[in-house]
Amino acid sequence: MALTSLRNTSRSNPPRLHMGCAKRACKHRKTRETGPPDSCRRMTPAMDAERRLAQNVPANSSPVHERQGMAQNWRDAELPLFAEAKRINDPERALRELAKEASACTRCPLYKNATQTVFGEGPADAALMLVGEQPGDQEDVTGRPFVGPAGKVLDRALESAGIERSAVYITNAVKHFKNEPRGKRRIHKKPDTSEIDACRWWLDNELAIVQPSVVVALGATAARSVMHKVVTINANRGRLIELPDHRRAVITVHPSYLLRLLEDRDKRREFDRLVKDLRFAADAARPS
Ligand code: SF4
Repeated sequence: MALTSLRNTSRSNPPRLHMGCAKRACKHRKTRETGPPDSCRRMTPAMDAERRLAQNVPANSSPVHERQGMAQNWRDAELPLFAEAKRINDPERALRELAKEASACTRCPLYKNATQTVFGEGPADAALMLVGEQPGDQEDVTGRPFVGPAGKVLDRALESAGIERSAVYITNAVKHFKNEPRGKRRIHKKPDTSEIDACRWWLDNELAIVQPSVVVALGATAARSVMHKVVTINANRGRLIELPDHRRAVITVHPSYLLRLLEDRDKRREFDRLVKDLRFAADAARPS
């Protein structure tokens, strides 16, 4: 399959970049090694008054009201990093800026125990987007999605389906590696609902920028994030599911599922099913 055939050429208008707001009260982003600077650990009343003035927050509003206000408004607010990319309508730059913003994310506790944010990669105009669960150990170290054992399975499946990996945007529902240290090893832990929902903010922004024609949810976590609800894989596999935003989704298993199967016969069967699902999604994403 030619690389260009999975580009989203059906866009009649340039994508409208719709960014969210990840502003924190504190302008100093916490770094994993050092934490926030001392000057920033405690906000004095004078600093708070200045912040409220700058952010147009009523002086008598409580932090809860502020959070509710942010929840209502963050989608429409301009982010400093995104503002310029949005103004000049540059999706590739917007993705880069979004990844920079995500690298400082503390929306859920998973950043505390991981090396770095693993953001999505691929063309900003990809017609096909693959969404996995979360980075694994190797992804956490390298900072790239699907480069570990499950990534190898995915690469083989994409090749068998005639899809060039470089033509597809690949990301995860959760951007930090959730794990439990055990000796020298880090054991993968499934992200819980609150973490998936917190991290959907980044996925929604990736979707808004890339605007893929078809999104492939690899596994139950990705399916929950893409569909905004719990869905069973077997009941929904192998068909196009219409999403509210005119995109379509295909649900299939996560490649790591194949690694957990014991019998070679089962591995071969499930690999063929994964290839079939990917091919089906690519055919649906190809401009008619
Ligand atoms: S997992 Fe997602 S929401 Fe949680 S800290 Fe990491 S990037 Fe932020």
